[in-house]
Amino acid sequence: MEKPPSSILILGHGVFGLSTALSLSLRPSFKHTKITLLDRSPFPSPDGSSIDTSRIIRSDYSDPAYAKMGAEAMETWRSSSSSSTQQAGVAKVLAGLGEEGRYTESGLVLVCDKGKQGEEYVRGSFENMIEMGSEKQKVKELKDRREIDKEMGTGGGNGDWGYINTSSGWADAEAGMRFLRKKVEALNRVTFLQGEAVSLLYSPSTSNKKKKIAGVKLSTGQEITSDLTILATGAWTGTLIDLRGRATATGQVLCYLPLTPTEQQSFSRAPVLLNMSTGMFIIPPSPDPSKPSLKIARHGYGYSNPLSLPNPSSPAQKISISTPRTTRDDPTLQVPLEGQLACRAALREMIPSLAERPFTASKICWYTDTPKGEFLITYHPQMEGVFLATGGSGHGYKFLPVIGERVVDVLEGRGKGVEEFGGKWGWPSEVVEDVVTEDGSRGGRPGMVLERELRRKEGTRAETTVIVRRKR
Ligand SMILES: Cc1cc2nc3c(=O)[nH]c(=O)nc-3n(C[C@H](O)[C@H](O)[C@H](O)COP(=O)(O)OP(=O)(O)OC[C@H]3O[C@@H](n4cnc5c(N)ncnc54)[C@H](O)[C@@H]3O)c2cc1C
Repeated sequence: MEKPPSSILILGHGVFGLSTALSLSLRPSFKHTKITLLDRSPFPSPDGSSIDTSRIIRSDYSDPAYAKMGAEAMETWRSSSSSSTQQAGVAKVLAGLGEEGRYTESGLVLVCDKGKQGEEYVRGSFENMIEMGSEKQKVKELKDRREIDKEMGTGGGNGDWGYINTSSGWADAEAGMRFLRKKVEALNRVTFLQGEAVSLLYSPSTSNKKKKIAGVKLSTGQEITSDLTILATGAWTGTLIDLRGRATATGQVLCYLPLTPTEQQSFSRAPVLLNMSTGMFIIPPSPDPSKPSLKIARHGYGYSNPLSLPNPSSPAQKISISTPRTTRDDPTLQVPLEGQLACRAALREMIPSLAERPFTASKICWYTDTPKGEFLITYHPQMEGVFLATGGSGHGYKFLPVIGERVVDVLEGRGKGVEEFGGKWGWPSEVVEDVVTEDGSRGGRPGMVLERELRRKEGTRAETTVIVRRKR
């Protein structure tokens, strides 16, 4: 970046957009830049991926670069507000992030089914954690299902090999985002606007070779101009620029069930359990009596929701774009039977005493998936004035304290964001036929289409066999 832009418009107040806003507000190079943050929803977005009861916070990655960035983020998740005097920059502003129940270091039991996909990921992650040393990562191998069950303390478990990392845990996702938002507001550098961007705004000086973008057009017809537009629009990004073959929206399943006060207190002491072979996971409940529910979910290939929409780069042409479908669009939307059966089967194994407890709520939450699960943090190579900060691929939330810093590094062309992730987060020069994330951590079936699954009224034989077999 030769000269900082005089104005930056960030689209999206999820974790990517808000943390970028925080870093821009604090970096001296942007002190004269006008920063605007626009979102289609009031904060917190009812259907944003960054808003939920909980998110896993871990540095347990098979890729050392993400493991290292995760460990850095966790220092801030664990920091106390009184430590702010020893901190600087973003870490100082966010000191105390994990307090008041926003982060719980419950431990994480990371497991796989031996010989299946996911094993390589878990073994790689275990090695990385050992390498980081016992000062930072407190890990213990769990050699078989018996050891896993014992560590869980819920009367059940999952997988047949793995480890526990007692230095990992989970965050109250919405509370963490509210904390971040307050900190950004307090700096008084960002103008917050509500409105839905429907297209990018082409500058009159645009050419066919490199289009010049001057801001966005809203659904109201209003135009907002800016020198640089940052797309942090999560799973909706494909409706604003053509991401075919590079990133796609996939719907993931979450089911919630109520707990009695005794169950809540007991299970709140359990670790998070994540099976990288099936993608199934449970996050323990908060001990807060006002939040007596347990979440069970799948980190999977997800559902696509292909719609025929105008190509954002050439609107006369219609293309197929997988686009989030949420309760904001359809208040009756529920997780398809296939997803509920998968959650039910996992629950029976993980916490047998809750095996038949009905789910009282379910939700489809949308990942912005890339082929290898890498984030997409880069200038758009063919559009001047556009930068992407997205591609969370189902693992972006935990980086809340550090992702904005990395985004702004890439924007400025220097720092850790470039040195550690330069080769990973760029605009992929090659496109794939269909984006299916193969980062070694996904469960479920690839290729499921949401509409088709919603129409199914019965489970397949395979699904029901699993349930019947485990019931015995
Ligand atoms: C079910 C589920 C479980 C997950 N579990 C974990 C986990 O355990 N640990 C972890 O680290 N990560 C996890 N993740 C991933 C993490 O939550 C995401 O990577 C991250 O929240 C993505 O943030 P974002 O800012 O890209 O998107 P979002 O939070 O979705 O924000 C995008 C924003 O853009 C706005 N927007 C969209 N289109 C427009 C438009 N046209 N105009 C204006 N505004 C617009 C939306 O309203 C929204 O507020 C999970 C994700 C899901 C869905």
